Amino acid sequence: PEDPRALLIVGAGQAGVETAVAARQNGFAGTITLIGDEPVLPYERPPLSKGMLMGESGLDEATIYSAAELDALKIELLNGIQVSGVDRKARRVSLSDGRQLSYDMLVLATGARARELSVTGSDETSLFYLRNLRHAKSLGEALRKATQVAVIGGGFIGLEIASAARKLGKHVTVIEAAARLMGRLLPEEAAGYMQELAVANGVALELGHTTAAVSREGVMLDDGRMVAADCIVVGIGAVPNDALAREAGLAVAERGGILVNPIGRTSDPAIYAVGDVAVHRDEISGREHRLESWQNANLTARSTGMAIAGAADHSIDLPWFWSDLFGGTVQMLGQMRDGLTLVRRDGGQAPVFFGLNEEGSIELVVDFGQPKAIQAARSLMLEGTELSPALLTDRDVDLSQLNEDDMKTIPLEKRFVWPATG
Ligand code: FAD
Repeated sequence: PEDPRALLIVGAGQAGVETAVAARQNGFAGTITLIGDEPVLPYERPPLSKGMLMGESGLDEATIYSAAELDALKIELLNGIQVSGVDRKARRVSLSDGRQLSYDMLVLATGARARELSVTGSDETSLFYLRNLRHAKSLGEALRKATQVAVIGGGFIGLEIASAARKLGKHVTVIEAAARLMGRLLPEEAAGYMQELAVANGVALELGHTTAAVSREGVMLDDGRMVAADCIVVGIGAVPNDALAREAGLAVAERGGILVNPIGRTSDPAIYAVGDVAVHRDEISGREHRLESWQNANLTARSTGMAIAGAADHSIDLPWFWSDLFGGTVQMLGQMRDGLTLVRRDGGQAPVFFGLNEEGSIELVVDFGQPKAIQAARSLMLEGTELSPALLTDRDVDLSQLNEDDMKTIPLEKRFVWPATG
């Protein structure tokens, strides 16, 4: 007999569509309806700040599944339609076109939106943001016409935009309130290397300065100086789209985002949340994580899609993130937190940084040009192997040989477990 259940997914971005596909491919036989407010097929966002901004690639390359592929999987896409409310009691959502749809299971995959700058002049000045296709198109046009670009925010998005603007030959200034770039995202030593890279590529930096005002002339800094600009881009972070969940009375995190268990279930067992909007709580440390990454969108979609289909996802993976900056690729494996000891390994195209925890195991890798090292570190991290900093920095040591057995071929003095006691 046919499965009579209805799965509704709100938000047709990467996590939304991948949840639909995972549920179907793992045997969910009911109806699947994907509702998204953007008027296009689901697409991946990383190209928005890379190839698409440079005019090197288009929407086709970023599109995840074609209409025919969705059709074949019996996934119905309602695009250009917003979900305006969730009635949990009646298990029904209301749509912007006045319709109501019933669900047995609901997935919130509403992502995040660009945080808006609110300073003197921000309402009257045309400011550019980058979160969606529409933004990428208008920013791309503006960058080509501009001569002087001011980027407010020195995180990944801000720096990718700066990198693209430099490639287009523009004069670029990055304004960052913190004393260094990538404050929340990278340990100090790795951020320092990133900073050298930005400067070497001709980016002017204004660190430790907030924006007092914006106008047609440019950005006025907190000390009254003016950064002249005919294109002002704001990249000061993203805010999770959790309004539907809040209004429906689901548990949300204090700092925003929808609280979920390891398979993405919210405080209502019929409702799940995936991707950028979902907040996972680490059961051991109690820490809350909300990741904004391509990999996290895929992994959370897969485990939730499988759970909906009644299958269990036993795969484990480490958080992974990449960014294309100044002609190279930065990769990050694991998660940044305070208290890690940073070890730098030179060689290859550029350095790789390892963050070791109190036990001497790698918890974070930030790689600027040694992709083999990150590959090797991945298995060491999954095995929880304890390592000495001396070993990690030794260029004669092949990191890919550092598994339990091969460790024995490494001289004892190089193998000692860190931190040494006494
Ligand atoms: P989204 O992709 O944002 O999708 C959410 C969708 O839901 C949107 O289409 C939204 O309009 C829609 N929606 C919201 N509310 C409603 C509603 N009420 N009704 C209907 N629809 C709704 N990650 C990396 O790992 N590496 C990178 O290099 C990288 N680069 C990036 C560059 C840019 C410019 C951006 C913006 C992100 C980048 N990311 C990168 C992050 C990655 O793209 C996101 O983590 C990922 O898109 C999250 O997927 P999602 O489905 O949760 O959210």
